[in-house]
Amino acid sequence: MFKDFLLSPPLLKAVEALGYTEPTPIQLRAIPVVLEGRDLMAAAQTGTGKTAAFGLPLLERLLQNPVRQRAPRALILVPTRELAAQVSDACRAMARNLPIRGALIYGGVSAKPQLDALAGGVDLVIATPGRLLDHLESRAVDLSKIEMLVLDEADRMLDMGFIRPIRRIIAALPAMRQSLMFSATFSDDIRVLAKSLLRDPVIIDVSPRNAPPELVDHSIYHVDSSAKHPLLTRLIVDGDMRQILVFTRTKHGANRLAERLVRDGLACAAIHGNKSQGARTRALDDFKQGRIRVLVATDIAARGLDITELPHVVNFELPHVPEDYVHRIGRTGRAGLRGKALSLVSRDERERLRAIEKLLGRAIPVAA
Ligand code: AMP
Repeated sequence: MFKDFLLSPPLLKAVEALGYTEPTPIQLRAIPVVLEGRDLMAAAQTGTGKTAAFGLPLLERLLQNPVRQRAPRALILVPTRELAAQVSDACRAMARNLPIRGALIYGGVSAKPQLDALAGGVDLVIATPGRLLDHLESRAVDLSKIEMLVLDEADRMLDMGFIRPIRRIIAALPAMRQSLMFSATFSDDIRVLAKSLLRDPVIIDVSPRNAPPELVDHSIYHVDSSAKHPLLTRLIVDGDMRQILVFTRTKHGANRLAERLVRDGLACAAIHGNKSQGARTRALDDFKQGRIRVLVATDIAARGLDITELPHVVNFELPHVPEDYVHRIGRTGRAGLRGKALSLVSRDERERLRAIEKLLGRAIPVAA
């Protein structure tokens, strides 16, 4: 029960309004540790409830020790604009009854509203590293009063090459602070970063390393590259599939496939790093609302998308990195619903399939 965590009544009310009745495993284990003021290193993927696992105790700690100042007291760093927006929405919902002000900072949009928000004074900053570093260098943000730092999806931040901005940002923080790190995997790089960042951390691993979500049916189709597109269209139409997230390896591949599916008469959009923030938000919104049936995405663009209860994930191409297979299918089978993950595997991808099966510790069945 959430009330066992001794959260303040306004936070408990917000949790109730969100419809959360039972804490998820990561929440059960992380919330008391964070409330105690300890550092934390947690292995948890999107979909486990990790945002509330750090958001609730972070807000509680800010609330318990009110300080009026212009400089922010807590910083949440995330890899992508989508995740920043999503974490911000979640924090806003949790803090709806609290006198806590937040700012959302990411690139690809005008800096002016962000600068205005920072100048007005905020308690909590949610940011992607690049744009935050810009604001730090132009002295638009003062990070010297940060009491709590959260690195969310730390592994993806390293994959995206954010290590330098992260280190520069951390160098601007006070040494006396509480630090929390969330990562889908604990790679060697992550361990090195954790060592330099965390002090005597409590380590929590709710999803055994690289275990795929349980409620997903996986299957593969062996198919020539040139036959993948017609097969996908047939599977979608014959199976009356709705809300399908399709992964391609490249931005170009995502665009090309989306164009072909549109020509087949399927409502479809592509989402990747070259698209403007507006276009990405719109595509995601259309997808969530059911106005588009197929969303084609690259791994980086899809990271951090919050689409709950997604029934279908299709790997149009297998990822280069086997762990990305687990990330991709982590989008389906959520919230107790059974999801389906289909992979279209061409001859030249057999090696990649073997690497994925090795990681999963089992073979993926071939679809009948
Ligand atoms: P996250 O892993 O933080 O992206 O959360 C995944 C989804 O689970 C989000 O839609 C949350 O709103 C939802 N969620 C988080 N905690 C709970 C909970 N205790 N009960 C039900 N849903 C939750």
